[in-house]
Amino acid sequence: MSKLVENVAICLCGRVKIRVATIDPKFTVCHCSLCRKWGGGPLFMANCGTEVEFEGKESIKEYDSSSWASRGFCSNCGTHLFSRFKKTGSYNVPVGLLPHTENLEMSMQYFSDLRPEYYCFSNNTPEMTEAEIQAYFASEVSQI
Ligand SMILES: [Zn+2]
Ligand SMILES: [Zn+2]
Repeated sequence: MSKLVENVAICLCGRVKIRVATIDPKFTVCHCSLCRKWGGGPLFMANCGTEVEFEGKESIKEYDSSSWASRGFCSNCGTHLFSRFKKTGSYNVPVGLLPHTENLEMSMQYFSDLRPEYYCFSNNTPEMTEAEIQAYFASEVSQI
């Protein structure tokens, strides 16, 4: 329980609080056009599984952004709160919302072939192209 209280993410205006039981410190970066349009840049997301509790649910709007995931945001301040995989119900929370960042490690860059030319990270991580992601998720559909 104490772990849940420690891991509280709060939106800009404070109306929404997200309590997560676990955070995978190996976070991912997505360079796809959807993520860049949503956040103005590449999206840093940490997998927080399904043990996620929300305070201020009435302020959460969820946008059905694709056939496999939806994206949640605070309807008052616009802070991006999560993406939720429809198949598993698991939540990815933006890394910038997490209160503890000590152990975080960039572990994967998705849609590396869609990354625009105006930025690149010096982090040395594995990358997956759009074709690789499609092939991977087609074969591992149950793990999405
Ligand atoms: Zn807010
Ligand atoms: Zn993306």
